[in-house]
This record gives sequence, C-alpha cells and structure tokens, in this order.
Amino acid sequence: MKKASPIIAFLFFFWGTGLLNAQQNGSVLFQNSHVIVGDGSELSAVDVLIANGVIQSVGDLDGASADAVIDLTGKTLMPALIDGHAHLGYQAYDGWGAEFYGEENLRANLEQYAYYGFSAVFSAGSDPDLLGLNFQLQQAATDQSYAEFLFAAGMAPPGQGPNNQFLVETAQVEAATGMTILRGLGDPVQARAQVREAAELGIEFIKIWVDDRGGSQLKLAPEIYRAVAEEANALGLRVFVHQQTAPDMVDLIDAGVHGFLHGRIGDDFSAALAGQAANADVFVVPNLGLGELRREAIGADAFLVPFLDEEAAGRLRVSEQRLLTPVRDAGQEQSVRDGLARFLAAGGQLVLGTDAGAVPDHPFGYTGHRELEIYVRLGVPPMVALQAATGNAARFLGLKDQGLLRTGYQADLLVLDGDPLQDIRNTRRIDRVLLDGREVDRESLRRRVTGR
Ligand SMILES: [Zn+2]
Repeated sequence: MKKASPIIAFLFFFWGTGLLNAQQNGSVLFQNSHVIVGDGSELSAVDVLIANGVIQSVGDLDGASADAVIDLTGKTLMPALIDGHAHLGYQAYDGWGAEFYGEENLRANLEQYAYYGFSAVFSAGSDPDLLGLNFQLQQAATDQSYAEFLFAAGMAPPGQGPNNQFLVETAQVEAATGMTILRGLGDPVQARAQVREAAELGIEFIKIWVDDRGGSQLKLAPEIYRAVAEEANALGLRVFVHQQTAPDMVDLIDAGVHGFLHGRIGDDFSAALAGQAANADVFVVPNLGLGELRREAIGADAFLVPFLDEEAAGRLRVSEQRLLTPVRDAGQEQSVRDGLARFLAAGGQLVLGTDAGAVPDHPFGYTGHRELEIYVRLGVPPMVALQAATGNAARFLGLKDQGLLRTGYQADLLVLDGDPLQDIRNTRRIDRVLLDGREVDRESLRRRVTGR
C-alpha cells in the first residue's frame, strides 16, 4: 500500500469533519473489528483495508499503512443494507402521491436510505421506464452519495397492478411524464412482446402482480405469467412477483420466476412449498412490517423522528389506531413463526424487503431496521436476518460485488456501535455509513431531505 504522505494526512484532517474517504485519494484501515461478512459468517478482531472504493484486504494486517487508521474495538463492521422491495418517488418528506414523483424526490428517498445505512434499493414496478433508466445512468456516472437505484418494469392485466389507491397515482405519473410504468398483458403473445421491449430498453427486472385485490381486479392468468417468465429467462431478466396467496407460489416457481416480494408465510406456506422454493433457489421477502407497523405509534420512535414533519409526527403518535406496542394475535404470530421455521429448515433464502413508499407513512430506511427486528422476534436467527439484508439481497438483485464484506467487494459499509447479533436493534446504532469507500455525511443528508 502506498504510504500516506504528510500532505495527504494533513488534508485528510483538514477536510476532516471526521468523514472517511477511501476513494481515489485515500485509504482507510479499520483495526480490531468484529465483522459480519453478510454470508452467514462473522470474524472477530480483524483489520479491513479499503482504497479506491473497494475492500482491499481483510485479516490480520499488522504493518499496513493507510491515510486514516480507525480502531473499531467494541464496534461491528458489516456490509451496508439493501432493501429488496420498495416503491420510490411517491413518498416525500411532506406528503405522498404522484405530484411528488420526479428525479429530485427519487434522490431524496435514496438519500434517506443512505442515512439509514442502505447501499441499494429495489423499486418494484412503479417507476416510469425512461426516467428510471436515465436516473441509473446519471448515478453510475457520479460518486455514490446515496443508495443505488434499481427498478423493474411493472406488468399486470391491462389497467391493473398495484393496490387501487397506488394504481391511481401511477396512472398520474404516466400521464405527467408520457412514459410507461405498467405494461398491460392481455395474452401470452403480448406478454412476450412486453418483456422483449423492456429488455431492449435495458431494464433488468420484471415485476408482475398475481392478485385479484379481493375481487376488484383480474388475476394474471397462468398462461400469461408463464410466457413472461419464459421470455424473461431467455433474455436474462429476473421476474419478481407480488403474489396473493401461498398456493399461487407453487405454479409460479414452476413457471420460472426468481423471487416473491410478499411472504404469505403462514399455515398454507407448507413444507413442500418451502422445499420447492429452496430447491429452485427462489427467494422470499417476508414483508411483515407493512401490516404490523401501521398499528404502531412509530412517530414516538427517536430513530424515525429526524425524518418526520410536524404533521406526520402528529399522525403517527399514539392514537386509537396506533399503540406503542400493538396487540398481536398470538395464533397468527405462531403461524408465521412456524412458516419461517419451515422455510429456513428447507434451506430457503430470505431477502429483506419493506414495501416502503407503497402507501403513506411506511418510511424509507427506518422500516428496514424494523423489518429485521420483526424477523428476529419471529424466530429468525439474527445472522440469517442480516444475511437477508446484505449478501442474499445483493445476490438476487444481481449486484455482483456488493453485499459482502470480502476482498474485492465494494466498500459499502456500516460501522455500528453495538453488535446486532447480540441484539438486532443494534443495527440502529449507526456510527458511520460508507458508500464506495466514502463516508456519507448523514446529518447533511438529513437536512437535504427534510429542508431543515
Ligand atoms: Zn410493493
């Protein structure tokens, strides 16, 4: 490694404000750290050297030099988190709806994610195609100062897709931008054509909805989703599914889809289904917080307060609808607990996902930490929960050099003041967030998002 020149060292402290920078001009050596790798393993008292935005080496690096040397005794270093199911652009600091959708708000949402320690987010079928692709190009051309944006082409029977409230908003964004968000699939021929068109544009993911919304919409027919999956597989695209019930998953896996964005984990999530999903290496996002947190007074949570305007804070305080600790149905808890146990026993792969932004008041970033907490409450080992949010999420999203704390991987890192394996709520105790080797200024991100 190159030795730090006195000038660089001086500049480092001068720019300092304590923010680490291991991009072109600098290197950082973390010493004596507890490391969560992201693949289900951990290391203790190791050193991690990063430079050029990449993890250069992990191990006992006595004698290595760097522009900044940080002792992490008592702290935990892990890959930054990834949210495998969100809907970006509609939720803004002071409201929710189509009128907020645009590049500026997308960026603000991703800045909020970075504040909460996330390096990438998958937006599931609610973004205008050309705007999304352009946003990705812009992001790839600049230093990463907020979470990476991934998105899918949304596909459903014509005129359908998201929940009825959200459907109205996506239609408004389509009208305002003149771009396509939802592609209607009337028959298998049309389905194949739409997948080909998405692939030609450069879109990497297809999101399909297989849900009749309690009878208010048509359910996507098997011959149509089979055509989607076959065409997508032939073209190297991944198909992620919003599915209505666990039994629907059996035929969808057989059709060749790659993952499920809503768990439907309960009594009818059978051992046979768990085994089928595990054998096909199809992931499941349990998505439990969306139902649960709407009954909780999350506005009283100091971890969320920095991103609540006065109105939201009021709305989310303790009320008849929202309690500090919502009453939980013990039978239902047990049912999900047993279903998760069946899935993990079969070797099933969990991915963290929140559905943040699909409805008002399910905030970005914050809900990811809450989701991990729910997994652990329902019996998922903390290590498995953290793997869902790092290595697994990266693998299923095709992020090849992300999600693991390993030599050669991007230095997207989270320094925590406590060990989340001891108490999963320690993911909240964020000391530093690094994206591509550069520490993000969390407080200035917060100010940009909230304007205060
Ligand atoms: Zn969703």
